[in-house]
Amino acid sequence: MAVKVRFAPSPTGYLHIGNARTALINWLFAKRAGGSFLLRLDDTDAERSTAEFAQGIRDDLAWMGLAWDDEKSQIARLARYAEAGEALTAAGRLYACYETPEELDYKRRRQRARGLPPVYDREGLSLSAAQTAAYAAEGRRPHWRFLLDHAETAWDDLVRGPQAYHGAHLSDPVVRRADGSWLYMLPSAIDDIDFGITHVIRGEDHVTNTAVQIQMFAAMGAAAPAFAHVPLITGPGGAGLSKREGAQAVRDFRAEGIEPAPLCSMLASLGTAEAADPAADLAALTERFDIRHFGRSQPQFDPAELAAVSARHLHGLAFAAAQARLAETGLADADEAFWLAVRANLLRFSDAHIWWRVLHEPLTPLIEDAEVAAAAAESLPPEPWDGETWAALAEAVKAKTGRKGRALFHPLRLALTGRENGPELKTLLPMIGRERALARLSGRTA
Ligand code: GLU
Repeated sequence: MAVKVRFAPSPTGYLHIGNARTALINWLFAKRAGGSFLLRLDDTDAERSTAEFAQGIRDDLAWMGLAWDDEKSQIARLARYAEAGEALTAAGRLYACYETPEELDYKRRRQRARGLPPVYDREGLSLSAAQTAAYAAEGRRPHWRFLLDHAETAWDDLVRGPQAYHGAHLSDPVVRRADGSWLYMLPSAIDDIDFGITHVIRGEDHVTNTAVQIQMFAAMGAAAPAFAHVPLITGPGGAGLSKREGAQAVRDFRAEGIEPAPLCSMLASLGTAEAADPAADLAALTERFDIRHFGRSQPQFDPAELAAVSARHLHGLAFAAAQARLAETGLADADEAFWLAVRANLLRFSDAHIWWRVLHEPLTPLIEDAEVAAAAAESLPPEPWDGETWAALAEAVKAKTGRKGRALFHPLRLALTGRENGPELKTLLPMIGRERALARLSGRTA
C-alpha cells in the first residue's frame, strides 16, 4: 500500500516552528517511503481562518522546500461532513445535547468537588421527547456529541509504542456546534478515510484524540491509519515556546536571515540522537530519516543554536549553490573567489553585501595608527598582487615601524576595510587592489 500522509494546519496564524517540524517529519516520512504528502487546511473555524494565513503557510512550506502533492480544504467539504454526520446519527453514534457552556461548567465543578473525573454525564442521551421539545421552545439549538464505546482502544504508536485508553475515562467529544459548524475531530477522521491517509503523524497533544478518532474510523466502517505522535518541542531550558521569547513563526526566522536547509536540518534532528548537520539538504535528510529515531522526551529548541547552524551552513556552501542567490540579491558580478573569501564570515546570506561594499564601494578608512598606515602606503608593491602580497607588506611595515602582532594588524585592517574583523587580509588585499588600498591607507574615502 502506497504511503500517504497529511499535514493539517489550521490557517488561523502563520506557520509556527512546532508545526513546521510536524510538516517536515510528515514530508520526510512520505519521501523516504516513496509516498505522497497532502496539505490539508483545517479551516472549518470560519471566524479565525483566513486566506492570508493559508497563503502564508503555503509560502513558508514552499520556502522550506516541502512541496505538497495535493491540497484539500475542509470548508469545501461541509456537505460530505453533514452526510457522514447523518449516517452516524442514524447509527446512534451522534447525539444531540442542549447544555449551555455555563451548565457544562457547573457539572464539571460539581464532579470535581465530589472527587470525580470531569467526564460528560451523557444527559443528552436520556432526554425525553418532552424535554427536547421544551428546549426547542426556549430557542435552544443542540450541539452534537460522538458516543464513545466504553471499551479499550489500543494502537501501536510508531513513536510512543503501545498505547491504550478506556472510553469510559473520556468525555463523548462535541463534534458539531449549535451553529452547525464542525469541530476538528470528526472532519479530520472523515478526511483521513476519504483521502486514503495511511499514517497520521502529529504532535503528542493529539494522543487522546487518537483514541477517539480510532473509534470514529470504526464507527464509519473504515480501518484506522497508523499513528505516530512526536513530543512537542520546548524552548531553551524546557520553557514553553511562546512569542515572548522571540521569533517562533517560520517567517520570523526567515526575516532574521535563517536559511531554509539548516532550519530543516535542525528540525529533523530535534528529538533524535543526531546533531543537526549544517551541510544536509532535504535529500540527505530523507536518506537518513527514520521515524523510530524520535524519542519520547521533549526536545529543546534553541533559536541561538539554529542561528549558529545556519551560519555554519553558509560557511560550507559551494559557490554553485550560492551563485543564483548572489545574483538575485544584486551581486551578479560576485565570482567564486569572492564567495570563497567571504563565506566563512557570514552569519546570514545578506552579509555578503557588507564585504562586497568593502571591496567595491568607497568607504571612509579608520586611521588608528597614522604611522602604520603611512608605512603601509609607502610599501605597497606594484600590481599584480597575489596571495603573497599581504605577508610581504606586513613584513615591510613591521620593519619600518617596529609594530607587531595586533598593534600591526589591527590598524591595517581598520584602514583597509573600515572594520574590526573580517576575512583574511591575505585574500582581501588583492581584491581591494592597489589604487583603493593606497587611498584608504592615506586616509581618503575610496
Ligand atoms: N488542525 C489540527 C492541528 O493543527 C490537525 C491535527 C492532526 O494532524 O490531526 O492541531
